[in-house]
Amino acid sequence: MIRYALSCDSGHSFESWFPSSDSYDEQARAGLVTCPFCDSPKVAKRIMAPSLGRAATLPAPVEAPAAATPGVPAAPAEAPVSLVAEPERQLRAMIRALHEHVARTADHVGADFAAEARRMHYGETEQRAIYGEASLTEARSLLDEGIAVQPLPALPDDRN
Ligand SMILES: [Zn+2]
Repeated sequence: MIRYALSCDSGHSFESWFPSSDSYDEQARAGLVTCPFCDSPKVAKRIMAPSLGRAATLPAPVEAPAAATPGVPAAPAEAPVSLVAEPERQLRAMIRALHEHVARTADHVGADFAAEARRMHYGETEQRAIYGEASLTEARSLLDEGIAVQPLPALPDDRN
């Protein structure tokens, strides 16, 4: 197999593999080598890799070999993604653990949360750990009354 870097008459660059250089010549002559971008059969070799050691009989490269120019490597662009992935996974695990801890150690009072928190705060019922649902307004007024409430971060799964 031999790989050719090709370009069409519209300037598109692409690569193609051929069983041999003769096979490329045949297919190109028959118009079977076409540009994948615009289907133009007018393609020419840019560079050839690997070298067959027959450079003298081959047409000179039309353009400078693109692969030889030191460009920006593609890999580092993906690095930040994997750097973010691990802490986010840990964060999700922590949130899940927090929910499990609360569910294990506190009473679920549901939508009654604000009322129950108030009753406990004013000594109408026994002090204990509770959890439930409260609107932002309810939570604010509880805080205003000096009742410590703690918002639970939403479970990661709930957002999906
Ligand atoms: Zn093209």
